[in-house]
Amino acid sequence: MTAADPPRQRLSFADQCEAPCCKTMLYHLTNRCEQHADDPYACPDALVSYNAVFDEYGIIVHDGGPSSVMIDFCPWCGARLPESQRDRYFDELDRLGMRPGDQALPEAYRSSAWRKQQST
Ligand SMILES: [Zn+2]
Ligand SMILES: [Zn+2]
Repeated sequence: MTAADPPRQRLSFADQCEAPCCKTMLYHLTNRCEQHADDPYACPDALVSYNAVFDEYGIIVHDGGPSSVMIDFCPWCGARLPESQRDRYFDELDRLGMRPGDQALPEAYRSSAWRKQQST
């Protein structure tokens, strides 16, 4: 390790999840792994994912990529999880005439922010 090494960004689903249903969910969304600090999907210890853009929780599929199977209920406390906003998101993008990878896509559509500006 030299002084020139940029600090590695730690990615954790817990950082984006504002309202986890229970402490156990929050625990499992938190990325504690040093080895996979920047890629929780790659960590065999990571069980669940959270997508802030769609407000979706999922069980991670360890196929080497960022894939997960969406879940409607918490596996630990049984709470009903928020309804996915995926369809609404793509409706919104259609309305804006944009696509998910667009450079011009407003910053709000890269996080949970777009969901909040709708409710005001
Ligand atoms: Zn790991
Ligand atoms: Zn729960």
